[in-house]
Amino acid sequence: MATVTPMMAQYLDIKAQYPDALLFYRMGDFYEMFFDDAVNAAEALDIALTKRGKHNGDDIPMCGVPFHAAEGYLLTLIRKGFRVAVGEQLETPAEAKKRGSKSVVKRDVVRLVTPGTLTEDSLLEARRHNFLVSYAELRDQAALAWADISTGAFHVMPVARVRLSPELARLGPSELIVADGPAYDHIRPLADEYKIPLTPLGKASFDSTAAEKRICSLFKVSALDGFGTFTRAEVSAMGALIDYLEITQKGKLPLLQVPEQEAEDRVMQIDAATRRNLELTRSLSGGRSGSLLSVVDRTVTPGGGRLLEQRLSSPSRNLAVIHTRLAALDFIVDQRQLAEQLRNALRQSPDLDRALSRLALDRGGPRDLAAIRNGLTQAETIASLCQELNLPELIVGAIGSLQGFDDLLEVLDASLIAEPPLLARDGGFIAPGYDDELDQARTLRDEGRSVIAAMQKQYAEHTGITSLKIKHNNVLGYFIETTATHADKMLSAPLSESYIHRQTTANQVRFTTVELSEIETKILNAGNQALEIEKRLYSAISDTILGISAPLNSAARGLAELDLLTSFADLATGENWSRPHVDQSRAFEVSGGRHPVVEQALRQQGGDVFIANDCNLSASDGAAIWLLTGPNMAGKSTFLRQNALIALLAQIGSYVPADKAHIGVVSQLFSRVGASDDLARGRSTFMVEMVETAAILNQADDRALVILDEIGRGTATYDGLSIAWATLEHLHETNQSRALFATHYHELTQLAASLAGVDNATVTVKEWENEIIFLHEVRKGAADRSYGVQVAQLAGLPTTVVARARNVLDMLEQSNRDGSGSKIQIDDLPLFAAAPPPQPTAPKGPSPLETLLDTIHPDDLSPREALEVLYRLKEAG
Ligand code: ADP
Repeated sequence: MATVTPMMAQYLDIKAQYPDALLFYRMGDFYEMFFDDAVNAAEALDIALTKRGKHNGDDIPMCGVPFHAAEGYLLTLIRKGFRVAVGEQLETPAEAKKRGSKSVVKRDVVRLVTPGTLTEDSLLEARRHNFLVSYAELRDQAALAWADISTGAFHVMPVARVRLSPELARLGPSELIVADGPAYDHIRPLADEYKIPLTPLGKASFDSTAAEKRICSLFKVSALDGFGTFTRAEVSAMGALIDYLEITQKGKLPLLQVPEQEAEDRVMQIDAATRRNLELTRSLSGGRSGSLLSVVDRTVTPGGGRLLEQRLSSPSRNLAVIHTRLAALDFIVDQRQLAEQLRNALRQSPDLDRALSRLALDRGGPRDLAAIRNGLTQAETIASLCQELNLPELIVGAIGSLQGFDDLLEVLDASLIAEPPLLARDGGFIAPGYDDELDQARTLRDEGRSVIAAMQKQYAEHTGITSLKIKHNNVLGYFIETTATHADKMLSAPLSESYIHRQTTANQVRFTTVELSEIETKILNAGNQALEIEKRLYSAISDTILGISAPLNSAARGLAELDLLTSFADLATGENWSRPHVDQSRAFEVSGGRHPVVEQALRQQGGDVFIANDCNLSASDGAAIWLLTGPNMAGKSTFLRQNALIALLAQIGSYVPADKAHIGVVSQLFSRVGASDDLARGRSTFMVEMVETAAILNQADDRALVILDEIGRGTATYDGLSIAWATLEHLHETNQSRALFATHYHELTQLAASLAGVDNATVTVKEWENEIIFLHEVRKGAADRSYGVQVAQLAGLPTTVVARARNVLDMLEQSNRDGSGSKIQIDDLPLFAAAPPPQPTAPKGPSPLETLLDTIHPDDLSPREALEVLYRLKEAG
């Protein structure tokens, strides 16, 4: 019979409750992992795998991470897709011993760490939301609920199945929970595609009746009516989310704000492919740099940064909201001095939301109290800066939310020192003069310390050992220490019987005295008492703060809103952006529009200036489509995207990179790029292109703005042309959207003649001495030719190839004009016509070219060397 040690029995017992997670089993200063957990974690963390004892006759694999460095390891594990159950010791070994000599220290899991439930600053990105999303399906209804427990934001919305993909793309969940069963099967492919960690839960978590009770009890209300009218699916999604938080936080619920219900038609719909193509928050290469977000982000607080990301992900389509935001921005743009003062105050405002959420989960410390204090102090400054101004509605609301914290601020100011330590554990953060009892205890403790210093001097004189020291450690407490060589002196000193020997180490001998122990007890008691008082005060202050968490959340929101406004103003002024005019029409008129990211890149390279361009897709009824032709590299994609971005920026309430813009509210934004630009994704690219195009043609309405870049390019010419042709017709006839359509199929330009809403436009180039110069100017009309050969020449194709291509092109164009079949003409072209036919030469000595050729061994050359050889050959020839 295999015997299991009591500790291992306890381990196995806890582990059985968390089969899907790695169990961090606390042992002293380490978190240990055993069995498969150890094998997996050792590999993921690249740490040593050892063994400890045996189980059923086999070695037990083990690895461990130090407790104080656990956060870093946790982060790595979470990033690698693990979930971690943190099992702590719930009593000291001494307490365990009291219960019985063989008792194992009580342990249990205090928290299940998952990607969607992180709160530590070090594990989170300050400027990004960390959304835990819950998806519920109930018969024909479905809903999404999402929360960021690091800030308390909590939202819910009904969602049609077809809208699931764009909504998930918008939210960018860190973790998605769903009921095991059909819902899981439905959402799994999407989660896989977006690489969202998916957590199946039992059906009970999603039960809508239980869910309602759970929500009511969390928010201490008797019915949900006060929050809005919810579908059963919405209730189920919210309830499951709360249940999951209870499971992972082990009953310590985070501060969730009351659920904010979102309507599906509230925001501009932007699907995943469009977000990717337009590089809204991430560039195509994956990073933040090169994205729209990176160029427009001038916020100075993490909360402002998060709000900006959220706005960019969900531009409004509600005119009232857009106008309120723009009116507030107009005001700030006009008040430059005020804006600068506000920004200075905001720069000093810490992350209120996250401090608050850590306090609520009992993972906070004195610095979080200080963060609230500093934030409220700045809030006060900000509110006073705005006094007596005739403020627009949005700012009135924001400033209003910053007020009413005088009492709390008074407590915080009086109670905390300027820069408190991270942990409450060691005390030392409550300011002197705040609590009499604490002051007394501290005086006693500190006096004790100076008494000890006096004693050391006295003992040194008494024994004549000048190097004698009084030291302290956790095992012995205070002790007198002297080197072994002086120990005899000590024992022969007068009154030597008062020195009680405690310990002899290699070089030192340690003693104590009755007097010293007494003082020690006093110091210890006073110190402990001071610590107890500080802990009590910490809890009291923390409770006071949590008691008004809702207004504090609003204040944080107010600060974020002001940060966003002043950052937009800074951007608008610095970059010379203008106020868009947004209305309910179907206008789309941009003069002097620019692409903010390309413009910035050009500026940083210090080369060309960006050429501003106009665009007019205004339509009273029916479609308004520009068909854009022009050679590669002319600036077609840039033009397409800049117009999409201008619409988006206008609807988040920002000024736009244009001289003037008139935008009739855009309901949906679509952007697709022909396949070959999209190789990175690795699927059959043409298939992807078609699937995505289908999504547009099936969904776009007459308020949509559609950007199609070289659709049809991913297949053979005639297929591609036909698909592009039919797509354009469908957009025009059925979707009736406003659209920009870039293509290199010149044949399409004929469509402008037959379709009323289609206009031709082209990006101009100039040909000069057979070379091409890009002017980047968009003007009405069709490109006269494609200039592909010139572009090829620019790219460095060998001159022989370019000449040959010109030759072929001339023939093809000629044949088109004649109406004769191009096939015959191509067959007529002499092979390798561009290369001069070999000339019989009289045998004489090798020419310089031949000599050079002899020295070349193509097998040994790198492409670069080959190029250099070509230059040398050219010189020699
Ligand atoms: P296309 O889609 O026609 O192949 P792109 O839009 O990709 O061309 O533009 C190619 C390059 O030309 C861009 O990377 C940019 O550097 C430059 N460019 C594009 N538009 C402009 C412009 N309006 N002003 C200045 N440079 C531009």
